[in-house]
Amino acid sequence: MWKNNILETIGDTPLIKLNSVTKSLPCTVLAKVEYFNPGNSVKDRMALKMIEEAEKTGKLKPGGTIIEGTSGNTGMGLAMGAIIKGYKCIFTTTDKQSKEKVDILKALGAEVIVCPTNVEPEDPKSYYSVSKRLSQEVPNSWYVNQYDNLANRQAHYESTGPEIWEQTEGKITHLVVASGTGGTVTGTGKYLKEKNPNIKVWAVDSYGSLLTKYFKTGEIDMSQVHPYITEGIGEDFVPQNYDMENIDAFEQVTDKDGAVMARRISKEEGIFVGYSAGSAVQGLLQKKEELTKDDIVVVIFHDHGSRYVGKIYNDQWMMERGFLEVKTFKDIISGRK
Ligand code: PMP
Repeated sequence: MWKNNILETIGDTPLIKLNSVTKSLPCTVLAKVEYFNPGNSVKDRMALKMIEEAEKTGKLKPGGTIIEGTSGNTGMGLAMGAIIKGYKCIFTTTDKQSKEKVDILKALGAEVIVCPTNVEPEDPKSYYSVSKRLSQEVPNSWYVNQYDNLANRQAHYESTGPEIWEQTEGKITHLVVASGTGGTVTGTGKYLKEKNPNIKVWAVDSYGSLLTKYFKTGEIDMSQVHPYITEGIGEDFVPQNYDMENIDAFEQVTDKDGAVMARRISKEEGIFVGYSAGSAVQGLLQKKEELTKDDIVVVIFHDHGSRYVGKIYNDQWMMERGFLEVKTFKDIISGRK
């Protein structure tokens, strides 16, 4: 038995019980570990779905060029799809993203253009603007736009949601998802709520993003927006993939708390996760009061820790940001963590 190509290995990721970092909670917590996808992230699912939809609707034609503004994980999925299906890729990304992520995309044959982070989306230098411009200028190209491309959330409605329902034998009570484009939380949440409307769907956001305030008030409040370090979650606008009807709560997490928790998940559970998995678990812990012993919570772990070795998994990087205390010689001898 073999797979015909790498794309056939996308999905069917394991659900793994957390035994240490969520000990203070009364309930069962299961992690949907998405780094088991071939591109090491959940985004493989939606990347493939978006390509397939674009092929169906004639937006992506043979030999075409795929253009996207991506922080890395979506690019990884798109690049794999492009290799197997015979397309070219050009990605724009920001200078906030790990260098590792950019190098991985290049390893998969993509052109990558790095743009400044701290400019307005409308600024011609922003990665949104640059990717849009490229899509107008490069012949036979398709601009993916994962934020407003509804094949993104559809992928999760068709695969992530059903997998979680089956793996928990319908017993899931809460879904917790660190959220960026909104594709994962909306698609997975919609499927699960159709199966059982009592399931609570909690989105986790970063401070510096306007999504939480938008969820609570319907207001697009730019005063909420400030630079933050957490990668892959939070936005400075509201992508069309959101359907707030399928979300019951938004919880904001600090850069420090997300990073510290990601390190704890790796050290205490042996699951080497990316930054946003830490944010998701931290967001869940912040909502401890709302949980009871019979609850079965599923938390999405979006990607793998290897993409963050120069960042949250680097002690110096953590100390420079005040996220980790400097260890003394005495601490090491006494075994203080
Ligand atoms: N975590 C990571 C590491 C991601 O790359 C993304 C995608 N931006 C997310 C969380 C959020 O997923 P979504 O875009 O589906 O909301």
